[in-house]
Amino acid sequence: MVLSVMNIVFLGPPGSGKGTTASLLEPKLGIPHISTGELLRDNISRKTALGMEAEKYISKGDLVPDEMILDIIKERLKEDDCKKGFMLDGVPRTVPQAEALENMIDIDIVIDIEVPDDIVIKRNSARESCTECGKIYNKRTMRPEKEGVCDVCGGRLEGRADDRPDVIKERLSVYREKTAPLIEYYENKGILKRIECNDIDEPPEIAVEKVIDIIEDE
Ligand code: ADP
Repeated sequence: MVLSVMNIVFLGPPGSGKGTTASLLEPKLGIPHISTGELLRDNISRKTALGMEAEKYISKGDLVPDEMILDIIKERLKEDDCKKGFMLDGVPRTVPQAEALENMIDIDIVIDIEVPDDIVIKRNSARESCTECGKIYNKRTMRPEKEGVCDVCGGRLEGRADDRPDVIKERLSVYREKTAPLIEYYENKGILKRIECNDIDEPPEIAVEKVIDIIEDE
């Protein structure tokens, strides 16, 4: 695959597989997967001032304020590993974030992963991640070799605090209201590509292949 600098954004509801797809693509494309959710959770676990503030919003399923996200992402994009491109997962999530991001970087492709609501809810409830290294698992589609234990580092697996059914419903409605308008926003810019996932147990490699096909067509 011939890739010069490639800046990719993933859109899609919570649990659509943005993070999983981007992390599987990371070694194939040689560009980093940057997840604002992970950056925020890292701040929460380190109990930084930003993490403590962000937790108030995240625990309710609300978005954290745009300025907080833009500060975090601006710092992250300055790091050396971003010079050859990057995959953004979880940002932008609002039109003001998209506008601010445009002043920082050029985006080449936006990939919208479309997943129906009922699948989103089931997927999020089955999700767990490693408390040590953050690797994501799913009790339906991506089980660890040993239940409750991370294959990579042996850390303990745990469901995310915001994956409780009531919080998932709120995140989904916030997605439809605040983030879904970005689909049209990027469509109007001519850089939107869609992939669909209608099968709850579809292995994540399928979405990875679909993204690679899109990139190769560019
Ligand atoms: P998911 O895509 O599964 O909802 P993330 O890990 O991307 O999960 O995000 C978890 C939470 O972090 C969100 O529900 C939100 O509260 C907060 N968050 C992450 N990225 C952003 C963003 N760009 N703007 C506002 N809030 C964000």
